[in-house]
Amino acid sequence: LPVVVIAGRPNVGKSTLFNRLVGRRQALVADTPGVTRDRKEGVALVRGRHIRLIDTAGLEEAAPDSLFGRMRASSESAVQEADLILFCIDARAGVTPTDEHFAQWVRRQNRPVLLIANKAEGRQGTAAALEAYRLGLGDPLGLSAEHGDGVTDLMWEIAERLPADKLGPEEEEDEWAPEPELTDEEEVRPTGPLKVAIVGRPNAGKSTLLNTLLGEERMITGPEPGLTRDSIAVTLHDGDDTFEIVDTAGLRKKARIDEALEKMSVSASIEALKMAEVAVLVLDATLGVHEQDLQIARLIEREGRACVLALNKWDAVEDRTATRKAILDRLSISLAQMRGVPVVTFSALTGSAVQKLLPAVREAWTVWNARVPTGALNRWFEEMLERHQPPLVDGRRLKLRYMTQVKSRPPTFVVFGTRAEQMPDDYKRYLVNGLREAFDLPGVPIRLQTRGTK
Ligand code: GDP
Repeated sequence: LPVVVIAGRPNVGKSTLFNRLVGRRQALVADTPGVTRDRKEGVALVRGRHIRLIDTAGLEEAAPDSLFGRMRASSESAVQEADLILFCIDARAGVTPTDEHFAQWVRRQNRPVLLIANKAEGRQGTAAALEAYRLGLGDPLGLSAEHGDGVTDLMWEIAERLPADKLGPEEEEDEWAPEPELTDEEEVRPTGPLKVAIVGRPNAGKSTLLNTLLGEERMITGPEPGLTRDSIAVTLHDGDDTFEIVDTAGLRKKARIDEALEKMSVSASIEALKMAEVAVLVLDATLGVHEQDLQIARLIEREGRACVLALNKWDAVEDRTATRKAILDRLSISLAQMRGVPVVTFSALTGSAVQKLLPAVREAWTVWNARVPTGALNRWFEEMLERHQPPLVDGRRLKLRYMTQVKSRPPTFVVFGTRAEQMPDDYKRYLVNGLREAFDLPGVPIRLQTRGTK
């Protein structure tokens, strides 16, 4: 049978992982020929294939000497006959010098290794798990042996690495094996209506747009919990998608004098944005971009919402090409988030081309929910580091090591590295703009965080 060895410093959870994989079959331990007292060994079933699993923890207690010597002694013979080494670290503790030392030794053994960041429960665990990249043992797999999270993924990964010539006959899967978890790459689907805010300066045409969108439907719902006193939610359908448009028209119409109107539209926008996922920024295309438009666009970015730019009153625009270019140039110079933002041009008044809006909103929502797989992200990250090496800070060059997306809505990334937290803003901008381009994330705010490692 293929031999899989669990290695790592003490207390990273090797035995828990062993028990988790061997499960009820642990009874087989004693029956396995050649099993010595101080070596924990069992047979596990991984995706229909039997493997011989060895836990090197059993040997640690017996061996004298320094910690590293003990680990090495315990692992040496086991590792040398391994078809696969599961090298474990503790994601909560991060990478310790002992881990590094031992990893170095394991690397030199030239056996296939799968790096496991155990105790990675929840989000923080995942982030910490990625610190493990610097061990140079490939992509770490975050899991929780204790809770069972990620164990299905682990089985897939192990199965993929087993040598074909040593495989026994295929068997039924254990009934306790959990269902495969969703992977990062699967597209996220809305579970309820997409929440949309229509924002923009007074007279940009927001009310007209809403009325046109409503057309026949006129399903005005609200006031609903969560909505402010003067706002209403309107439900619209487009294909299979349902949209809930939070309208703050009530607030806007109340204001009488111009000055108050200007102020109102900003506070009304904030209210609507807090409840929305996607913001439709309506501009009066005949007027170009004004400071207040930028102000509202900045609010969208600050609230972390996806954005669709709606150039309204397109019927009244003469030179459409020039107008479009002028508006987009102005916006993208002032706001990086607006680079490549999805744009729809229409006439809310005549209804012409208004039907393009909701599909664009749906698309923006999808981007806002996007997850970039860690492998692809880090391949890209390496290229970016090569193209422009990280800057010197106080005469010393920043060492940036790897990157991970910790959440979506909006996409949020963490860069790990020595003194990563000292990364200057222009290098951050370089990475954020690169991310937007490489992974096709137009019109969404991208958050970039940094975390220093030892
Ligand atoms: P709001 O303050 O953003 O809600 O703007 P309104 O919907 O009240 O529209 C302001 C003015 O612009 C009204 O006089 C509308 O008739 C006009 N308007 C709205 N949309 C269009 C459009 O697509 N084309 C033209 N020519 N006028 C429009």
